[in-house]
Amino acid sequence: MKRVYNFSAGPAVLPEEVLKEAAEEMLDYRGCGMSVMEMSHRSAAFQQIIDEAEKDLRELMNIPDNYKVLFLQGGASQQFSAIPMNMMKNGKAGYIVTGQWAKKAYQEGQKYGEAIKLASSEDETFSYIPDCSDLDIPEDADYVYICENNTIYGTKYKTLPNTKGKPLVADVSSCFLSEPVDVSKYGVIWGGVQKNIGPAGVVIMIIREDLIPEETPISNTPTMLKWKTQADNGSMYNTPPCYGIYICGKVFKWIKKMGGLEAMKAHNEKKAAILYNFLDQSKLFKGTVRKEDRSLMNVPFVTGDKDLDAKFVKEAKAAGFENLKGHRTVGGMRASIYNAMPVEGVEALVAFMKKFEEENA
Ligand SMILES: *Cc1c(COP(=O)(O)O)cnc(C)c1O
Repeated sequence: MKRVYNFSAGPAVLPEEVLKEAAEEMLDYRGCGMSVMEMSHRSAAFQQIIDEAEKDLRELMNIPDNYKVLFLQGGASQQFSAIPMNMMKNGKAGYIVTGQWAKKAYQEGQKYGEAIKLASSEDETFSYIPDCSDLDIPEDADYVYICENNTIYGTKYKTLPNTKGKPLVADVSSCFLSEPVDVSKYGVIWGGVQKNIGPAGVVIMIIREDLIPEETPISNTPTMLKWKTQADNGSMYNTPPCYGIYICGKVFKWIKKMGGLEAMKAHNEKKAAILYNFLDQSKLFKGTVRKEDRSLMNVPFVTGDKDLDAKFVKEAKAAGFENLKGHRTVGGMRASIYNAMPVEGVEALVAFMKKFEEENA
Protein backbone atom coordinates (compact mmCIF):
# COMPACT_ATOMS: atom_id res chain seq x y z
CA MET A 1 0.00 0.00 0.00
CA LYS A 2 1.22 3.47 -0.91
CA ARG A 3 -0.01 6.74 0.61
CA VAL A 4 0.91 10.03 -1.05
CA TYR A 5 1.14 13.47 0.52
CA ASN A 6 -2.20 14.88 -0.56
CA PHE A 7 -2.35 18.68 -0.75
CA SER A 8 -5.88 18.77 -2.19
CA ALA A 9 -8.07 21.75 -1.27
CA GLY A 10 -11.06 19.44 -0.84
CA PRO A 11 -12.11 16.72 -0.56
CA ALA A 12 -8.87 16.46 1.29
CA VAL A 13 -6.53 14.43 3.45
CA LEU A 14 -8.03 12.68 6.50
CA PRO A 15 -6.18 11.26 9.51
CA GLU A 16 -4.83 7.81 8.68
CA GLU A 17 -5.91 6.57 12.08
CA VAL A 18 -9.51 7.47 11.31
CA LEU A 19 -9.42 5.72 7.95
CA LYS A 20 -7.95 2.58 9.52
CA GLU A 21 -10.55 2.49 12.26
CA ALA A 22 -13.34 2.94 9.71
CA ALA A 23 -11.84 0.12 7.64
CA GLU A 24 -11.79 -2.18 10.68
CA GLU A 25 -15.43 -1.40 11.39
CA MET A 26 -16.53 -1.63 7.76
CA LEU A 27 -18.15 -5.07 7.80
CA ASP A 28 -19.24 -5.20 11.41
CA TYR A 29 -19.74 -1.98 13.33
CA ARG A 30 -19.16 -2.87 16.98
CA GLY A 31 -21.08 -6.16 16.94
CA CYS A 32 -24.01 -4.84 14.88
CA GLY A 33 -23.12 -7.29 12.09
CA MET A 34 -23.42 -4.54 9.52
CA SER A 35 -21.62 -1.46 8.26
CA VAL A 36 -22.71 2.03 9.34
CA MET A 37 -23.54 2.47 5.65
CA GLU A 38 -26.19 -0.23 5.90
CA MET A 39 -27.72 0.90 9.16
CA SER A 40 -31.12 2.53 9.69
CA HIS A 41 -30.75 6.14 10.68
CA ARG A 42 -33.52 5.43 13.22
CA SER A 43 -31.47 2.70 14.92
CA ALA A 44 -30.10 3.09 18.44
CA ALA A 45 -26.59 2.53 17.10
CA PHE A 46 -26.83 5.46 14.67
CA GLN A 47 -28.55 7.71 17.19
CA GLN A 48 -25.57 7.15 19.45
CA ILE A 49 -23.17 7.99 16.59
CA ILE A 50 -24.82 11.34 15.82
CA ASP A 51 -25.34 12.22 19.50
CA GLU A 52 -21.73 11.53 20.30
CA ALA A 53 -20.55 13.49 17.25
CA GLU A 54 -22.55 16.50 18.42
CA LYS A 55 -21.33 16.16 21.99
CA ASP A 56 -17.68 15.95 20.93
CA LEU A 57 -18.03 18.91 18.56
CA ARG A 58 -19.67 20.98 21.31
CA GLU A 59 -16.80 20.12 23.61
CA LEU A 60 -14.10 20.89 21.04
CA MET A 61 -15.53 24.27 20.04
CA ASN A 62 -16.99 25.08 23.44
CA ILE A 63 -20.37 25.74 21.79
CA PRO A 64 -22.78 27.60 24.09
CA ASP A 65 -26.10 25.91 24.92
CA ASN A 66 -28.12 28.48 23.02
CA TYR A 67 -26.66 27.31 19.71
CA LYS A 68 -28.07 24.44 17.64
CA VAL A 69 -25.76 22.07 15.82
CA LEU A 70 -27.16 20.66 12.58
CA PHE A 71 -25.64 18.00 10.34
CA LEU A 72 -27.09 18.65 6.88
CA GLN A 73 -26.60 17.78 3.23
CA GLY A 74 -26.41 19.82 0.03
CA GLY A 75 -22.90 21.10 0.56
CA ALA A 76 -21.82 24.53 1.67
CA SER A 77 -23.26 25.99 -1.53
CA GLN A 78 -26.83 25.08 -0.65
CA GLN A 79 -26.60 27.21 2.48
CA PHE A 80 -25.75 30.21 0.28
CA SER A 81 -29.53 30.13 -0.41
CA ALA A 82 -30.73 28.82 2.94
CA ILE A 83 -29.01 31.64 4.87
CA PRO A 84 -30.99 34.50 3.22
CA MET A 85 -34.14 32.37 3.15
CA ASN A 86 -33.99 31.93 6.92
CA MET A 87 -32.44 35.24 7.93
CA MET A 88 -33.60 38.06 5.62
CA LYS A 89 -36.40 39.34 7.84
CA ASN A 90 -35.85 42.92 6.72
CA GLY A 91 -34.88 41.75 3.27
CA LYS A 92 -31.40 43.19 3.60
CA ALA A 93 -27.92 41.86 4.39
CA GLY A 94 -24.30 42.92 4.05
CA TYR A 95 -21.70 40.77 2.34
CA ILE A 96 -17.93 41.11 2.42
CA VAL A 97 -16.60 39.71 -0.82
CA THR A 98 -13.14 38.22 -0.34
CA GLY A 99 -13.20 35.46 -2.92
CA GLN A 100 -15.25 33.20 -5.09
CA TRP A 101 -17.18 31.51 -2.30
CA ALA A 102 -18.18 34.81 -0.69
CA LYS A 103 -19.11 36.13 -4.12
CA LYS A 104 -21.33 33.16 -4.82
CA ALA A 105 -23.05 33.63 -1.47
CA TYR A 106 -23.48 37.33 -2.24
CA GLN A 107 -24.98 36.60 -5.65
CA GLU A 108 -27.34 34.05 -4.12
CA GLY A 109 -28.35 36.58 -1.45
CA GLN A 110 -29.37 38.99 -4.21
CA LYS A 111 -32.09 36.56 -5.29
CA TYR A 112 -33.92 36.84 -1.98
CA GLY A 113 -33.48 40.45 -0.99
CA GLU A 114 -31.08 43.33 -1.03
CA ALA A 115 -27.58 41.95 -0.67
CA ILE A 116 -25.16 44.82 -0.16
CA LYS A 117 -21.48 44.52 -0.92
CA LEU A 118 -19.90 46.11 2.17
CA ALA A 119 -16.31 45.59 1.07
CA SER A 120 -14.36 43.59 -1.48
CA SER A 121 -10.81 42.64 -2.35
CA GLU A 122 -11.58 41.74 -5.94
CA ASP A 123 -9.50 44.72 -7.16
CA GLU A 124 -6.35 42.78 -6.30
CA THR A 125 -7.45 39.25 -7.17
CA PHE A 126 -8.64 38.67 -3.60
CA SER A 127 -5.08 38.63 -2.31
CA TYR A 128 -5.95 40.45 0.93
CA ILE A 129 -8.69 40.96 3.53
CA PRO A 130 -10.21 44.47 3.42
CA ASP A 131 -10.34 46.69 6.50
CA CYS A 132 -13.60 45.78 8.21
CA SER A 133 -13.32 47.92 11.32
CA ASP A 134 -15.82 50.59 10.29
CA LEU A 135 -18.07 49.38 7.50
CA ASP A 136 -21.12 51.22 6.27
CA ILE A 137 -23.69 48.72 7.53
CA PRO A 138 -27.37 49.67 7.11
CA GLU A 139 -29.29 49.98 10.38
CA ASP A 140 -31.79 47.34 9.27
CA ALA A 141 -29.38 44.77 7.86
CA ASP A 142 -30.29 41.27 9.03
CA TYR A 143 -26.72 39.98 9.11
CA VAL A 144 -23.16 40.48 7.94
CA TYR A 145 -21.73 37.64 5.87
CA ILE A 146 -18.09 36.59 5.54
CA CYS A 147 -16.07 33.68 4.23
CA GLU A 148 -13.52 33.46 7.04
CA ASN A 149 -10.83 31.46 5.23
CA ASN A 150 -10.64 31.88 1.48
CA THR A 151 -9.77 28.44 0.19
CA ILE A 152 -8.91 29.49 -3.34
CA TYR A 153 -6.92 32.64 -2.59
CA GLY A 154 -5.32 31.64 0.71
CA THR A 155 -6.43 34.56 2.87
CA LYS A 156 -7.91 34.48 6.36
CA TYR A 157 -9.49 37.08 8.63
CA LYS A 158 -7.17 37.64 11.59
CA THR A 159 -9.78 39.82 13.28
CA LEU A 160 -13.50 39.47 12.72
CA PRO A 161 -15.32 42.41 11.14
CA ASN A 162 -17.03 44.98 13.33
CA THR A 163 -20.63 44.09 12.48
CA LYS A 164 -22.05 46.94 14.58
CA GLY A 165 -24.31 44.58 16.45
CA LYS A 166 -25.58 42.61 13.46
CA PRO A 167 -25.28 38.82 13.58
CA LEU A 168 -22.12 37.58 11.91
CA VAL A 169 -22.58 34.69 9.48
CA ALA A 170 -19.27 32.97 8.70
CA ASP A 171 -18.50 30.24 6.20
CA VAL A 172 -15.59 28.40 7.84
CA SER A 173 -15.53 25.44 5.46
CA SER A 174 -11.77 25.53 5.01
CA CYS A 175 -10.72 26.49 8.55
CA PHE A 176 -13.23 24.46 10.57
CA LEU A 177 -11.54 23.14 13.75
CA SER A 178 -8.14 24.45 12.68
CA GLU A 179 -7.84 26.69 15.76
CA PRO A 180 -9.94 27.77 18.75
CA VAL A 181 -12.89 30.08 18.04
CA ASP A 182 -15.27 32.02 20.24
CA VAL A 183 -18.61 30.76 18.94
CA SER A 184 -20.50 33.45 20.85
CA LYS A 185 -19.09 36.06 18.44
CA TYR A 186 -21.04 34.49 15.59
CA GLY A 187 -24.71 34.26 14.77
CA VAL A 188 -24.07 31.39 12.40
CA ILE A 189 -20.77 29.58 11.99
CA TRP A 190 -20.87 26.84 9.46
CA GLY A 191 -19.19 24.94 6.68
CA GLY A 192 -18.91 21.93 4.47
CA VAL A 193 -16.81 19.23 6.10
CA GLN A 194 -14.85 18.00 3.10
CA LYS A 195 -11.95 20.41 3.63
CA ASN A 196 -10.92 19.83 7.21
CA ILE A 197 -13.27 17.39 8.90
CA GLY A 198 -14.64 14.53 6.86
CA PRO A 199 -15.94 13.15 3.58
CA ALA A 200 -17.97 15.33 1.18
CA GLY A 201 -21.70 15.26 1.75
CA VAL A 202 -22.06 16.82 5.19
CA VAL A 203 -22.41 20.46 6.09
CA ILE A 204 -22.34 21.48 9.75
CA MET A 205 -24.43 24.48 10.82
CA ILE A 206 -23.94 26.03 14.24
CA ILE A 207 -26.78 28.53 14.64
CA ARG A 208 -27.77 30.77 17.53
CA GLU A 209 -31.26 29.62 18.44
CA ASP A 210 -32.95 33.00 18.13
CA LEU A 211 -31.83 33.13 14.48
CA ILE A 212 -33.86 30.04 13.60
CA PRO A 213 -37.23 31.52 12.57
CA GLU A 214 -40.59 29.90 13.30
CA GLU A 215 -41.61 30.88 9.78
CA THR A 216 -39.00 31.75 7.17
CA PRO A 217 -39.24 35.35 5.92
CA ILE A 218 -38.99 34.09 2.33
CA SER A 219 -42.28 32.41 1.51
CA ASN A 220 -42.15 29.09 -0.29
CA THR A 221 -38.82 28.20 1.30
CA PRO A 222 -38.50 24.46 0.71
CA THR A 223 -39.21 22.45 3.87
CA MET A 224 -35.73 20.97 3.70
CA LEU A 225 -34.08 24.39 3.67
CA LYS A 226 -35.93 25.68 6.72
CA TRP A 227 -33.50 25.47 9.60
CA LYS A 228 -36.44 24.94 11.94
CA THR A 229 -37.38 21.71 10.17
CA GLN A 230 -33.87 20.40 10.71
CA ALA A 231 -33.54 21.72 14.27
CA ASP A 232 -36.88 20.26 15.37
CA ASN A 233 -35.94 16.88 13.98
CA GLY A 234 -32.40 16.56 15.28
CA SER A 235 -31.00 16.78 11.72
CA MET A 236 -33.12 13.73 10.85
CA TYR A 237 -36.20 15.13 9.13
CA ASN A 238 -35.14 12.81 6.35
CA THR A 239 -32.22 10.40 6.01
CA PRO A 240 -29.07 12.26 7.00
CA PRO A 241 -25.65 11.61 5.44
CA CYS A 242 -25.09 8.80 7.96
CA TYR A 243 -21.68 7.52 6.92
CA GLY A 244 -20.24 11.00 6.57
CA ILE A 245 -21.46 11.98 10.03
CA TYR A 246 -19.88 8.80 11.41
CA ILE A 247 -16.49 9.74 9.94
CA CYS A 248 -16.81 13.34 11.20
CA GLY A 249 -17.41 11.88 14.66
CA LYS A 250 -14.19 9.91 14.42
CA VAL A 251 -12.28 13.01 13.34
CA PHE A 252 -13.66 14.91 16.36
CA LYS A 253 -12.33 12.15 18.61
CA TRP A 254 -8.97 12.26 16.82
CA ILE A 255 -8.72 16.02 17.40
CA LYS A 256 -9.61 15.57 21.07
CA LYS A 257 -6.90 12.95 21.37
CA MET A 258 -4.40 15.28 19.69
CA GLY A 259 -5.10 17.87 22.39
CA GLY A 260 -8.06 19.83 21.04
CA LEU A 261 -8.11 23.06 19.07
CA GLU A 262 -5.18 24.73 20.89
CA ALA A 263 -2.99 21.80 19.87
CA MET A 264 -4.39 21.90 16.31
CA LYS A 265 -3.52 25.59 16.10
CA ALA A 266 0.07 24.96 17.21
CA HIS A 267 0.36 22.06 14.74
CA ASN A 268 -1.04 24.18 11.90
CA GLU A 269 1.11 27.21 12.71
CA LYS A 270 4.19 25.04 12.72
CA LYS A 271 3.42 23.63 9.27
CA ALA A 272 2.45 27.00 7.79
CA ALA A 273 5.65 28.60 9.13
CA ILE A 274 7.81 25.96 7.45
CA LEU A 275 6.23 26.69 4.09
CA TYR A 276 5.90 30.49 4.37
CA ASN A 277 9.46 30.88 5.70
CA PHE A 278 10.73 28.99 2.71
CA LEU A 279 8.61 31.05 0.29
CA ASP A 280 9.85 34.32 1.84
CA GLN A 281 13.50 33.52 1.17
CA SER A 282 13.09 31.63 -2.11
CA LYS A 283 14.41 33.17 -5.33
CA LEU A 284 12.11 31.07 -7.46
CA PHE A 285 8.83 30.67 -5.59
CA LYS A 286 6.74 33.39 -4.04
CA GLY A 287 3.51 33.56 -2.06
CA THR A 288 0.62 35.48 -3.63
CA VAL A 289 -1.08 36.82 -0.50
CA ARG A 290 -0.49 39.90 1.66
CA LYS A 291 1.53 38.62 4.60
CA GLU A 292 -0.78 39.75 7.41
CA ASP A 293 -3.72 37.95 5.80
CA ARG A 294 -2.12 34.59 5.12
CA SER A 295 -4.17 31.46 5.73
CA LEU A 296 -2.85 28.62 7.86
CA MET A 297 -4.69 26.17 5.67
CA ASN A 298 -4.31 27.10 2.00
CA VAL A 299 -0.99 28.37 0.68
CA PRO A 300 -0.95 29.59 -2.93
CA PHE A 301 2.41 30.27 -4.60
CA VAL A 302 3.85 30.89 -8.07
CA THR A 303 7.16 30.93 -9.89
CA GLY A 304 5.99 33.72 -12.19
CA ASP A 305 6.40 31.47 -15.22
CA LYS A 306 3.44 29.34 -16.31
CA ASP A 307 5.55 26.67 -17.95
CA LEU A 308 7.75 26.34 -14.91
CA ASP A 309 4.65 26.10 -12.68
CA ALA A 310 3.36 23.25 -14.83
CA LYS A 311 6.74 21.52 -14.74
CA PHE A 312 6.79 21.82 -10.95
CA VAL A 313 3.30 20.35 -10.54
CA LYS A 314 4.18 17.47 -12.85
CA GLU A 315 7.47 16.63 -11.16
CA ALA A 316 5.94 17.00 -7.70
CA LYS A 317 3.23 14.54 -8.62
CA ALA A 318 5.79 12.03 -9.81
CA ALA A 319 7.57 12.43 -6.46
CA GLY A 320 4.41 11.68 -4.45
CA PHE A 321 3.07 15.20 -3.81
CA GLU A 322 -0.49 15.25 -5.12
CA ASN A 323 -2.94 18.02 -5.99
CA LEU A 324 -0.57 20.99 -5.92
CA LYS A 325 -2.02 22.68 -8.98
CA GLY A 326 -3.54 26.05 -8.10
CA HIS A 327 -7.19 26.87 -8.66
CA ARG A 328 -7.97 27.57 -12.30
CA THR A 329 -8.76 31.22 -11.52
CA VAL A 330 -5.38 31.91 -9.85
CA GLY A 331 -2.99 29.58 -11.65
CA GLY A 332 0.33 28.54 -10.12
CA MET A 333 0.31 26.21 -7.17
CA ARG A 334 -1.60 25.81 -3.94
CA ALA A 335 -0.71 23.57 -1.03
CA SER A 336 -3.62 22.89 1.29
CA ILE A 337 -2.22 21.83 4.63
CA TYR A 338 -5.26 20.95 6.69
CA ASN A 339 -5.27 19.41 10.18
CA ALA A 340 -4.57 15.90 8.92
CA MET A 341 -1.47 16.89 6.90
CA PRO A 342 1.52 15.79 8.99
CA VAL A 343 4.50 18.10 9.60
CA GLU A 344 6.65 15.62 7.66
CA GLY A 345 4.46 16.21 4.59
CA VAL A 346 5.25 19.93 4.60
CA GLU A 347 8.93 19.34 5.36
CA ALA A 348 9.15 16.90 2.46
CA LEU A 349 7.40 19.38 0.16
CA VAL A 350 9.81 22.18 1.09
CA ALA A 351 12.80 19.87 0.54
CA PHE A 352 11.39 19.05 -2.88
CA MET A 353 10.86 22.75 -3.68
CA LYS A 354 14.46 23.52 -2.70
CA LYS A 355 15.73 20.82 -5.02
CA PHE A 356 13.50 22.06 -7.83
CA GLU A 357 14.76 25.60 -7.28
CA GLU A 358 18.39 24.49 -7.55
CA GLU A 359 17.72 22.46 -10.68
CA ASN A 360 15.85 25.30 -12.36
CA ALA A 361 17.95 28.27 -11.30
C1 LIG B 1 -15.33 24.31 -0.84
C2 LIG B 1 -15.97 25.50 -0.29
C3 LIG B 1 -17.33 25.78 -0.52
C4 LIG B 1 -18.21 24.92 -1.40
O1 LIG B 1 -18.51 23.72 -0.80
P1 LIG B 1 -19.54 22.69 -1.46
O2 LIG B 1 -19.76 21.73 -0.35
O3 LIG B 1 -18.86 22.11 -2.65
O4 LIG B 1 -20.75 23.43 -1.82
C5 LIG B 1 -17.88 26.89 0.08
N1 LIG B 1 -17.14 27.70 0.85
C6 LIG B 1 -15.83 27.47 1.08
C7 LIG B 1 -15.06 28.40 1.95
C8 LIG B 1 -15.21 26.37 0.52
O5 LIG B 1 -13.91 26.15 0.74
